[in-house]
Amino acid sequence: MTGPVARIDLDAMRHNLFRVRELAIGCPVVVAIKANAYGHGLIESAQALVDADAYGVARVEEGLRLRREGISKTIIILEGFSSQAELRLCQGRGFELVIHDLSQITQLENYFKSARTPPELHGHPLLVLWLKVDSGMHRIGIAPEESSDAIAKLRQLPNVKLVGMLTHMANADDRNSDYTTRQLQRFEPCIDTDLQVSIANSACLLNWPQTRVGWVRPGIMLYGASPFSDTTAADEGLQAVMTLRTHLIAVRELKKGDAVGYGSAWRCPEDMRIGVAAIGYGDGYPRHAPNGTPVLVDGKRVALAGRVSMDMITIDLRNVAQARVGSSVVLWGEGLPVEEVAAAAGTISYELFCRLTARVKFRYEGKDLLNHL
Ligand SMILES: *Cc1c(COP(=O)(O)O)cnc(C)c1O
Repeated sequence: MTGPVARIDLDAMRHNLFRVRELAIGCPVVVAIKANAYGHGLIESAQALVDADAYGVARVEEGLRLRREGISKTIIILEGFSSQAELRLCQGRGFELVIHDLSQITQLENYFKSARTPPELHGHPLLVLWLKVDSGMHRIGIAPEESSDAIAKLRQLPNVKLVGMLTHMANADDRNSDYTTRQLQRFEPCIDTDLQVSIANSACLLNWPQTRVGWVRPGIMLYGASPFSDTTAADEGLQAVMTLRTHLIAVRELKKGDAVGYGSAWRCPEDMRIGVAAIGYGDGYPRHAPNGTPVLVDGKRVALAGRVSMDMITIDLRNVAQARVGSSVVLWGEGLPVEEVAAAAGTISYELFCRLTARVKFRYEGKDLLNHL
């Protein structure tokens, strides 16, 4: 027996990319595979999503890792570069860098003044750039009123090609907010018609048809989770990709009033059985998941009882009489939507996926997997 295993269904991931194509017909797709493909495995996910038009990562280091693994598709670095040294690493690697701050433009100007910068690379532009406009998220991006100046400056740089403009929506997961429409209204006047555009993340793709223009940038929906708090992946025509599973390592017969786990956060309301499963916050299961958080034991829906420990959780087994040591425990995935677990634990599916630790074993399934080995 092993500890926790995350089974990754690569056919489901491909299905979800197909769903993106259905929603955004004719739009090129950059798949967000940053943060280790939202915890699903960078390289395996990149290979499964080979039909995408580009890969999107947050940082230069993630792009370099894809290149080291021999992956040659266009990579968009969503946070761009942050130093001259990084710029040098980016040259000639097929990266497209997002410029989101005026300081990056100054760095570029200095870079091209430096004697160490080669004049060009085989006749191709040294650097391919996108400009990010802050239409209301107020995290990164150039202010709308500064965008045309920024475009002009970037166009003056030698051996640089500005290819597109993007913006990011702050409230697209809220169907009742008009903020997305307001952000669109702020972005539209900035658009330079010679450039490509990109607006839509998963929530936009699923809920805001006006944003399905130019390049679309799905992330969470590829991994089979809904970005909305009121729907599951299945409701959105998506298939769960990750099933996180472990097993019971002990079954205890406890008496009414017995306390379970640290802080005695659960007391048995009657004589009952408690199951102990091999997973905890040391594997990335959320420590703040409270009593009542759903889990499946032998396919039956039951609930956490007591605090999450580093290596173990404790489970109320009153509704699953057949459970015994070795019984399968599903934390999320097949049969238990990750959105429900996230809601119970006061977080979002994105975080549950990303925080799995190296102690979890990953198993990949999918009929095309063999082609890549
Ligand atoms: C991560 C990311 C996305 C994908 O967002 P989802 O909500 O996961 O679809 C899109 N655009 C940018 C700039 C991102 O950083």
